[in-house]
Amino acid sequence: MVDRIVIVGTGHAGVQAAASLREEGFEGKLSLVGDDDDLPYHKPPLSKAFLKDSEPRPQVLRAEAFYEGAGVDLRLGRRVEAIDRPGRRLVFADGTALDFDGLVLATGSRPRPLPLAGANLDGVLSLRSLADARVLRTRMADAGDVVVIGGGFIGLEVAATLAAGGRRVTVIEAQDRVLGRVVAAPISAHVARRLAESGVTILTGVGVARIEGRDGRVEAVETTEGRRIPARLVLVGIGALANTELAGAAGLDIANGIRVDAGMHTSVPEILAIGDAARFRHEGSGAEVRLESVQNATDQAKLAARSLTGHHETYRAVPWFWSDIGDMKLQMAGLTTGSDRVAMAGKPEDHRFSLFHFRDGRLAAVESVNRPADHMLARRMLAEGFSPPPEAVGDDLKAMFQNWQAARGAS
Ligand code: FAD
Repeated sequence: MVDRIVIVGTGHAGVQAAASLREEGFEGKLSLVGDDDDLPYHKPPLSKAFLKDSEPRPQVLRAEAFYEGAGVDLRLGRRVEAIDRPGRRLVFADGTALDFDGLVLATGSRPRPLPLAGANLDGVLSLRSLADARVLRTRMADAGDVVVIGGGFIGLEVAATLAAGGRRVTVIEAQDRVLGRVVAAPISAHVARRLAESGVTILTGVGVARIEGRDGRVEAVETTEGRRIPARLVLVGIGALANTELAGAAGLDIANGIRVDAGMHTSVPEILAIGDAARFRHEGSGAEVRLESVQNATDQAKLAARSLTGHHETYRAVPWFWSDIGDMKLQMAGLTTGSDRVAMAGKPEDHRFSLFHFRDGRLAAVESVNRPADHMLARRMLAEGFSPPPEAVGDDLKAMFQNWQAARGAS
């Protein structure tokens, strides 16, 4: 049993780990340290409501009183520079240190930088933190022409919001479809079509050659095809990199993320890693993954707290994710990795449909557009291990699932 736990990172994972440690009965010293200056907040609204609301207010993860009440020594605006493993302490830039005998790395991820001249011009932004969102809000006010580099979730969410607010928005995506790394092709096609209908110009299979500016301020983006697109504001959303430097310098096993076992332990047993920064083996597919979602951050934090309080459990949470792009609610449950058969419920023409992915004949994942009931059912089916036959997709799966549950309960 450990007496002094330090958590690095005040995002979704770090804050949940602190709360869960107390819920699990941990009574020792508990510090939560992060380099963000703001009271920990929800990140998803930063690319959604925060940009739309006339008076945006950050949504805090926990009220300020929580930290004091739970005996959590919250240290904001503090960057950890190094882990002194033999000394079991964290070192800060000013030379001060913080002792631990259990350490949780919840260091998250950061926007992948655009390796191009012009990427540092004024008006070229990325979006990760509340501070970034405040800048984006200010700059979008007088930006008529906007270019979004990268057709991922964050880029498309912002593109839809800005287009709805009357800006001319162009999305430049290097792959042949938007959301190419994260959803199946029919969903990409639907999202692209819908965004185009709402006035967003989408260029796929096109790169960015350079970003042009005048007097240090962005003016235009030139594509690899030589097209010049005027831009007062450029949002770069080309993915995220795990913050692994701290762990790597301390000799922990790193591979696009901090490698952890099923109990969230890194290659050094007294150090755990969770959330966007952690890479783990997903039970269902066998694939090693690093997931960037609130669900994963929250559930791994809960499991880490169990591990640190003496339990030996395996991370089995069903991954799920959502994104709101214009009038589309995208929801994913499970992982499509290795999917070998897909069946559709609903119709894209109705603007409501779901794709059910099967792997070796068993349900692996469900991706939905504006069909929240399918998503909720999918999460329950995946969690309980029920798989409908692919041919049954489109029938009453809920009734089928309930019959299966009843039969299982009776046996
Ligand atoms: P983070 O939230 O990134 O927190 C890590 C913290 O650690 C950061 O504050 C970082 O600065 C800090 N840190 C790193 N290194 C150090 C150090 N050396 N010293 C001190 N502090 C350090 N997910 C969804 O499921 N649905 C969504 O709709 C969705 N929308 C999103 C929209 C936006 C704009 C963003 C940015 C993310 C969104 N996500 C969404 C993803 C989700 O927010 C992340 O998966 C989640 O925040 C991960 O939590 P985390 O605690 O692992 O990392």
